[in-house]
Amino acid sequence: MARERRFWGWGFEGEGLDRVAQEGLAALVAPLVGGGPLTVIDPPTVDELDLPAPRLSPPPTLAAWCRADDRTRAGHTYGKSFRDVVRALDRRWDRPPDVVAFPPDEDGVAAVLDWASSAGAVVIPYGGGSSVVGGVEAPPDDDRPVVSCDLGRLDGVLEVDRTSRAARIQGGVLGPALEDQLRPHGLTLRHYPQSFEVSSLGGWLATRSGGHFATLHTHIDEFVESIRAVTPAGRWESRRLPGSGAGPSPDRLLLGSEGIFGVITEAWMRLGDRPAFRASGVARFATFEEGARAARALGQSGLWPSNCRLLDATEALVSGSGDGHAHLLLVGFESADHPVDAALARAGELVGDHGGTLEVRPARADVEGADDAAGRWRSAFLRAPYLRDALVGLGLVNETFETAVTWDRFEPFVASVRAATEEALRAAGAWPGVISCRLTHVYPDGAAPYFTVIAPGRPGDRLRQWAEVKEAAMDAIAVGGGTVTHHHAVGRDHRPGYDRQRPGLFAEQLRASKRVVDPEGLLNPGVLIDP
Ligand SMILES: Cc1cc2nc3c(=O)[nH]c(=O)nc-3n(C[C@H](O)[C@H](O)[C@H](O)COP(=O)(O)OP(=O)(O)OC[C@H]3O[C@@H](n4cnc5c(N)ncnc54)[C@H](O)[C@@H]3O)c2cc1C
Repeated sequence: MARERRFWGWGFEGEGLDRVAQEGLAALVAPLVGGGPLTVIDPPTVDELDLPAPRLSPPPTLAAWCRADDRTRAGHTYGKSFRDVVRALDRRWDRPPDVVAFPPDEDGVAAVLDWASSAGAVVIPYGGGSSVVGGVEAPPDDDRPVVSCDLGRLDGVLEVDRTSRAARIQGGVLGPALEDQLRPHGLTLRHYPQSFEVSSLGGWLATRSGGHFATLHTHIDEFVESIRAVTPAGRWESRRLPGSGAGPSPDRLLLGSEGIFGVITEAWMRLGDRPAFRASGVARFATFEEGARAARALGQSGLWPSNCRLLDATEALVSGSGDGHAHLLLVGFESADHPVDAALARAGELVGDHGGTLEVRPARADVEGADDAAGRWRSAFLRAPYLRDALVGLGLVNETFETAVTWDRFEPFVASVRAATEEALRAAGAWPGVISCRLTHVYPDGAAPYFTVIAPGRPGDRLRQWAEVKEAAMDAIAVGGGTVTHHHAVGRDHRPGYDRQRPGLFAEQLRASKRVVDPEGLLNPGVLIDP
């Protein structure tokens, strides 16, 4: 039976934690957030939905693949952030799309844009809907009707070039379906964001997502040969090239464009052979700082480990990988071509220089669910989105902040973001709580710290608490010299920080580009830039 997407939160109906498991989770978490009883909030049901009537209907030529039932519209109202799940649990569907279009092909996408233009509607490109920054919701202060353009039917690998090891792939394909189609060719894109199961190639490109590789090829950008998109002003396709110095790159303009310039329908992506050799290990450190210095040494070594993730002791404890005292550095290498044990051995020496001992894991044990710290962390990583929704369903505040900063600022930066977050949680009446940190990606010149907050929420007031804490954390990140986001995109939620971070003239340049490809401002108004 086909799995049905949950309309109010992460994943699929019937998957994740059931009520008994959620009550068990409540008992585990309560001591960490003040000990008060945590009760389960019933998730919304389809019967409860009572959305305002759609303000427009599709023309007969499009009607066969457009839907306007409450379930479909509610499922496309929000992304999957903490704020989105809280609003859904509160039964708030503030600005649902009037119609959800499921174009069957690229011409269908163009037809949606033409129809929206003639109907004076806004179009929101929708891939997997896993945005955590308000990227797929209707603009709050725009009265135009809204069409959500769900790319889910553009889900094929259209062509494989084995010689160049690349493939032409449609933009709406979700992670698992993409890998399923590449597997028979012995190839892989090997891009695994945590949202892999329900996020799409087009969404990854539009948000510059960060994936599996902790060093070197960290963002999807590195795998792009060319991109094809439909804009309201016409179609756009770059030439397939392994590299080019011909002026500013058209692909770079679409990468991170978050749907404001056009709908990405296809891309030629660089692939790899499936890895056959792996080696990995785990090192324990007495302090997070020592672990970070070891990660820096690995990042600057030229070894390019595929995994180089540092978990602080709290993160290790919460994910079930550690005892709550040691900070863990997970190190892994992989190759389709050659053994990687020598690289791991050298990594062990570098780790040793910084006070850690790398425990090498048995060969081939780094498969999902392996019964050691790294295996437990990996399976917790994959389950985390369901767990997050379960925590939100217990009335807690559960948010993540991620950023990147250069090594010269790293230690005071992490300390100041932690301190600002804790102070804001206390001020918002959301303390005691848990603040943990991990490094998701490591560069020669810096790293990407990722903070997770679990804190008690006040019923009916959680969104205000969240907004205050988020603002304080983002402010500390900006003051400390970090980026407003390393891989969660800008959307609407990160606009204030993005506006502060980018040069003013660049904003003008983006607006000018948008006027060329989208003169009527149909696409995602208010995301990234103001009209
Ligand atoms: C639990 C969880 C874990 C996550 N982990 C990661 C992670 O590890 N790494 C990471 O990078 N991100 C992560 N994210 C954030 C999110 O998954 C990424 O931003 C992802 O790239 C979005 O892909 P999507 O297909 O779901 O896009 P959507 O959410 O559908 O859309 C995101 C933005 O891109 C636009 N868009 C979507 N498709 C297209 C298209 N074809 N053409 C033009 N514009 C388009 C949308 O309009 C929107 O502005 C996570 C999110 C969740 C909920």
